[in-house]
Amino acid sequence: MSAYLVCFEPACRTRYPIDEVIYNCPKCGGLLEAGYDFTGTDAPALKRIWRERRMSNQPLDQSGVWRYRELFPFLLNVEACAVTLREGNTPLLNAPRAAQYAGINTLTFKHQGFNPTGSFKDNGMTCGAAQAVRLGMKRVACVSTGNTSASMAAYAAAGGLQPIIFIPHGNISYGKLAQALEYGAQTLQVEANFDQILKLVRELAERLGIYLLNSINPFRIEGQKSIIIEMMDQLDWQPPDWIVVPGGNLGNVSAFGKALRELKQLGFIDRVPKLAVVQAHGAAPFFRYAQQGGGSRFEAEVHPETLATAIKIGDPVSWPKAWLEVSSSGGTVEQATEQEIADAKAVIGACGIGCEPASAATLAGLKKLIAHQVVGAGERVVAVLTGNVLKDPDYIYRYHTAQLAAPDGTAIQPNFGNSPVVVPNDADRISELLA
Ligand SMILES: *Cc1c(COP(=O)(O)O)cnc(C)c1O
Ligand SMILES: [Zn+2]
Repeated sequence: MSAYLVCFEPACRTRYPIDEVIYNCPKCGGLLEAGYDFTGTDAPALKRIWRERRMSNQPLDQSGVWRYRELFPFLLNVEACAVTLREGNTPLLNAPRAAQYAGINTLTFKHQGFNPTGSFKDNGMTCGAAQAVRLGMKRVACVSTGNTSASMAAYAAAGGLQPIIFIPHGNISYGKLAQALEYGAQTLQVEANFDQILKLVRELAERLGIYLLNSINPFRIEGQKSIIIEMMDQLDWQPPDWIVVPGGNLGNVSAFGKALRELKQLGFIDRVPKLAVVQAHGAAPFFRYAQQGGGSRFEAEVHPETLATAIKIGDPVSWPKAWLEVSSSGGTVEQATEQEIADAKAVIGACGIGCEPASAATLAGLKKLIAHQVVGAGERVVAVLTGNVLKDPDYIYRYHTAQLAAPDGTAIQPNFGNSPVVVPNDADRISELLA
């Protein structure tokens, strides 16, 4: 077996065929991950091939995910199965103004909001959809706070699959819901929170033979590794000191850690950057877990609350993987308040970059990590902006017009506000105003 599924639990590590439809280890219930026989991998040759593919007109080479397919070889016939919308290919952007705000010399954002559906979920979904095609599935489902459903709907539609999405009733931004509807997903709004719906959907998937594309799906994690591979390629394989990422279900940081370990093991990079995860203050079970130093007891947040809906998760499924990656990298976990996230978001906007609320937790958290001297002002940091600025325009308008309130009702101050001004139809008066 050159590609297989393997139980993540160190005490189990049971292997299963790569095309078995399972989401957890049948033996112990542990998370699954993809494993490969990487013997013969030639790092210098692949670095060259990947560069050459940027010049290619072949769809798979143009994809910023499939370009790096040698590092997630779970398909026998990639051409026949891959569903691509030319995902990935996201830029590294320097942001002096955001660096100054955080108190660091330089700061680089990797902006996953440049993806086809506007979030990093596309990096993973292209692989998850490919696996669904390979398995001959007709229907795919997920439960989502928004971006996963938008992405799954698009990739399912593009791949000829029927998407079914489950969303928490009244807890989703309209930008994301609109996408799912437009891409033709059957959309079910359930009156329960994310964690409750996840349980429900897992039961339905089994009962109805629907392929589940939630973040525990190991093939989505494989695709999200490409965020890091592409980042290292763009940095000419010189790893930064830190990579900062917001944490919700913790699939993304798990993918980042796996990618970095594999890149190191295969000789693409010579050291692994430290991973910093930032959670929203009202949905920070992983932050608290890290504060107590890890261990076998993970306490979920029963009532997660944050305006950053993409990270409004109380019981993150991937915490065991995430903890392995964060702790083995020498990294850390931070949290940020609603006010801190909102201000950081406006600062990222004022750089001409912009992002959705969850993404801004990176800058808010980094500012605190620098203040607490966990991150040094001279260190090289890449912060991953996970979603596009247009995902949540309502939040933006409210912030800039002093109408934004935290879930507990506390008013959020528009410290970097930019309110529109009403003026008369009068050139003289407007000239005065603009003088
Ligand atoms: C999904 C998502 C997150 C959280 O990622 P996890 O893998 O669940 O930790 C953060 N930001 C955005 C924009 C997202 O869509
Ligand atoms: Zn197991």
